[in-house]
Amino acid sequence: MRKKIVAGNWKMNTLVSQGKALAEELNAFMKTYDMPEGKLVIIGTPFTHLSTCVEAVDTKKIHVAAQNCSQFEKGAYTGEVAANMIKDLGVEYTIIGHSERRQYFGDTDEVIATKLAQCYANGLSPILCCGEKLEEREAGKHFEVIESQLRNALKDVSAENFKNTVVAYEPVWAIGTGKTATPDQAEEIHAFIRGLIAKLYDAKIADDTTILYGGSVNAGNAANLFAQPDIDGGLVGGASLKANDFISIIKAI
Ligand code: PEP
Repeated sequence: MRKKIVAGNWKMNTLVSQGKALAEELNAFMKTYDMPEGKLVIIGTPFTHLSTCVEAVDTKKIHVAAQNCSQFEKGAYTGEVAANMIKDLGVEYTIIGHSERRQYFGDTDEVIATKLAQCYANGLSPILCCGEKLEEREAGKHFEVIESQLRNALKDVSAENFKNTVVAYEPVWAIGTGKTATPDQAEEIHAFIRGLIAKLYDAKIADDTTILYGGSVNAGNAANLFAQPDIDGGLVGGASLKANDFISIIKAI
């Protein structure tokens, strides 16, 4: 059975003290909440917050993610953070290929493929993001764009490594805009992604893969999105910064 996941992406928000307070609030909730087996909560924090957040939560109930890692293993790469440094902190996941990194930081499909390789080599589970821009959807190219992003990122990824991967479909036009994909629109792409994974690997692996939806998920729309058969949870930006909103989304899974 594939896992259901609610993952927060804090992006470049909060000071460490604020992030710690948010993590503690979520931890206090999770301590009393009877989370069903196979359902996970992840918080994706800035690098500077990772250690503090790992210590602030019960990591069996709240898993911690970074939002990126270097494509290089180690060495003279000023400003970069290696996958093994992240893993060493007790972090389990990292977001890879978020559209903001593709847009502002040159994360091409090739770079994303090398970052995935670093994750697998160091025991980090990637949350691999894909998603089309508004103009690509309007031109009817969304299936083509998603297929190409995933095929390129995964071309050298073995089935064994892929099993440690979470996929997130995040239409760029829905991120931070308040414009959520309808449950039907999201489900259509999620089913397509699952079919593609079956072609790239096999039907059992596809069936076991967690595919998250991201793009203006909030307390009001989460339940309808998560009710779709191929939507296994959410990658949540803005609404993950408010404990009460994020808790409502956790309850919706
Ligand atoms: C995201 O950052 O991955 C995201 C989906 O953001 P938001 O929920 O704010 O649209």
